[in-house]
Amino acid sequence: MMICNNLSVNECGHLMFAGIDTVTMAKKYGTPLMLMDEAKIREKCSIYRNAMQENFTPDSMPLFASKALSFKYIYKIADSENIGIDCVSAGEIYTAVKAGFPMEKAYFHGNSKTDDEIRFAMESKVGHFVCDSIEEVSVINDIAKSMGLTQKVLLRITPGIDPHTHKKISTGSVDSKFGVAIETKQAYELVEKTLALSNIELMGYHCHIGSQIFEHEPFCDAAKIMMKFIADVQKMYGYTAKELNLGGGMGVRYTEQDPEIDYAANIKKIADLLKELCSEYNLSLPKILMEPGRSIVADAGLTLYTAGYLKEITGLKNYISIDGGMTDNPRFTLYQSPYTVVLANRMNEANDYCCTVAGRCCESGDIIQEDVMMPKPKRNDIIAVLTTGAYNYAMASHYNKVPKPAVVMIKNKEDFVVIQRETIEHMIATEV
Ligand SMILES: *Cc1c(COP(=O)(O)O)cnc(C)c1O
Repeated sequence: MMICNNLSVNECGHLMFAGIDTVTMAKKYGTPLMLMDEAKIREKCSIYRNAMQENFTPDSMPLFASKALSFKYIYKIADSENIGIDCVSAGEIYTAVKAGFPMEKAYFHGNSKTDDEIRFAMESKVGHFVCDSIEEVSVINDIAKSMGLTQKVLLRITPGIDPHTHKKISTGSVDSKFGVAIETKQAYELVEKTLALSNIELMGYHCHIGSQIFEHEPFCDAAKIMMKFIADVQKMYGYTAKELNLGGGMGVRYTEQDPEIDYAANIKKIADLLKELCSEYNLSLPKILMEPGRSIVADAGLTLYTAGYLKEITGLKNYISIDGGMTDNPRFTLYQSPYTVVLANRMNEANDYCCTVAGRCCESGDIIQEDVMMPKPKRNDIIAVLTTGAYNYAMASHYNKVPKPAVVMIKNKEDFVVIQRETIEHMIATEV
């Protein structure tokens, strides 16, 4: 049952997370509540940072993919862990700036950057832009020129890899709204045109093949294609990439069926291959970047709900309702994502009752997980959904005008609020 080493059960039969009783937290802060384990976030940052510095060039580094979970405190952690960040909007950039993050270590992504966002990112001194198309590079060039600066960029290249994950979270194949394909030769054209721009400094390339990938092979396949691209471009245009960003996508354990991942070992395998390829192509190893999001924060988070009503449909199915749902975790609704769900206040009782955990929205699809085995739940039990640190709060919505939950960080067994619970007043603050 314990899918991550920050989980345990105490003598009262309560779920413990990061050394703290989750039932006590639910009482103290109310529900729905997201708890985060700072030590786990830091552990993951350092696994990536150390493995990358040891196996690639010493200036190589992970960039935390902000879209997985963006709030001020997490950028402070990223800064103190000495890693970079990837941002995809003015909102994420602004949050990082407000946290005092050194923005030269930020990479600005997105396939639809607006003029205002581009200008805002430049004013915020974002170090690198990751560009998705030639049209975008030339817009960035024009804005950089008007602001009297030269902007460093990476070009997003689609290597044509299908990492066999869910279609909605697979992004490296040719038919994608992201990047420019090698297969169609448009990637070469993009490089040639970018090199001719006066206010762009081309630093190298980016690729991102998908998400929740457990094996190292898809990353090695991408690395192979990207190194060949670097070598080909060098032959064609005499330009050598200084940086190669291999994107994010390493998986995490949502359930016991998911394998354990040795991130450092995967990084070493990718590095061994890259070094081999570099000697084959007679290139020196570029600075390598990776953009883990999910694997930094997912198992550093869990969500607590209070159980509502139990609906038993005779001969068919049981539903336990909760005080949150797709508004704070839309991932089952979107992707049928698996999660481990437990009854946090009765961990030592037999899991002999099958029920579907249903959210509170007026939407049949508002389900957190189907057919979960747990002790027969009662109203006011505390239901914990594990591994919710990534793409939960970040994807939260105001559907049915439900306010967003509070986020509480646990550090050295101390708990403190990092995002306040939203109130109804917050939600209507923009309304006239
Ligand atoms: C989503 C995304 C990431 C992060 O992916 P994870 O699966 O969370 O590691 C990194 N880079 C880019 C460009 C992305 O779109």
